[in-house]
Amino acid sequence: MSELLDIRPLPREAGPAINLLRKEENASRLNALASYEILDSDAEKSYDDIARLAAYVCAAPAGMISFFGENRQWVKSLVCTGAFSGKPLDFPHEGLREAALHEPGQILQLPDIQAGGQKRGHVRPRFYAAAPLYAPAGDILGSLGVLDRRARGLTGEQSHALETLARQVMELLEMRRTLIGLSSANAKLGQQNVTDALTGIPNRRAYDQKLSEEFARAKRTGAPLSLLMLDIDNFKQYNDNFGHLAGDSALQSVARVLLSSLRPYDFLARYGGEEFAIILPSTDLADAIVVAERVRGLVAASEFPHRKFTISVGVSRLDIDAGTKALVQAADIGLYRAKASGRNKVVIGKLNDHSPVGSATP
Ligand code: GH3
Ligand code: MG
Ligand code: MG
Repeated sequence: MSELLDIRPLPREAGPAINLLRKEENASRLNALASYEILDSDAEKSYDDIARLAAYVCAAPAGMISFFGENRQWVKSLVCTGAFSGKPLDFPHEGLREAALHEPGQILQLPDIQAGGQKRGHVRPRFYAAAPLYAPAGDILGSLGVLDRRARGLTGEQSHALETLARQVMELLEMRRTLIGLSSANAKLGQQNVTDALTGIPNRRAYDQKLSEEFARAKRTGAPLSLLMLDIDNFKQYNDNFGHLAGDSALQSVARVLLSSLRPYDFLARYGGEEFAIILPSTDLADAIVVAERVRGLVAASEFPHRKFTISVGVSRLDIDAGTKALVQAADIGLYRAKASGRNKVVIGKLNDHSPVGSATP
């Protein structure tokens, strides 16, 4: 019958007094650990393999990789062979002793731990040896250890092998950190791909994607979908009068005002130049007009450097059978008519609307 390996804090009498690490050493170690995102991570075969190899080369029934978190020693991998079976356990601060106890660069060996209080069916290790895991800056992050149920020691070769394997654990950690860096750089790149560099709102690419997603949803659920196309009135004049830099900063301000006027599920994007689009999911034409009027009114009432701005807005509602192309065309027609009929207006766009422009009213 296999026995449970009982891993608990080593008793105080097992070694010299604990020389607790100084506060700043603690912070630097915890920072290093955080950069590897290793604490409380899932079990990983590559770490188990090293723990198993450590047990094997040291002829010990158990190998363990653990890290010194805040007030705890956290076990990443515990591999038991032969008579032992076991499971990773959190056990408190005492584990830090091994980092503080031994001379730098040396293997900690506790050849004969005389511990009482053994529970039935559990085996407490009597022998423990550990090689420290050194971060590049010198912090001891944890240890690669081996345990045995009998009093013993390590040969010189075994100590050497344990140190070598500890360095392999650090290689794994470094690889882990590189991957973390790469994936966050990737996420940032992905974000840049869908964000307009000037205004910080979603760009045309994001708009195209969102529109096709919302079209699919509307088709599936039968919910309405509306679209607003917005264009700043007489913007060229602003550029001509105050320069392109002032124009850029005005575009940023207008985007901020537009954003502030929307409901959480409305989607604002810079369509191009001084044109914006707002996708309104689950919104019927009547509600879309209300949103459009609110946005138009807000821009007209806002203060900008040098002069006021107004916008013209075209509104359309999705006809599922006609598709998104028709939705965009209709909003464009509305926008064109809003411009042609005097600007600072909201106009519903209709495909094949050939009525005189002057009569275009919401
Ligand atoms: P309308 O009321 O008919 O829309 O007139 P408008 O002057 O706004 O329209 P027009 O299409 O003639 O000019 C748009 C201007 O927007 C011209 C262009 O230089 C300016 N513009 C487009 N993108 C940017 C930008 O990123 N920065 C700046 N500063 N100006 C831009
Ligand atoms: Mg324009
Ligand atoms: Mg314009």
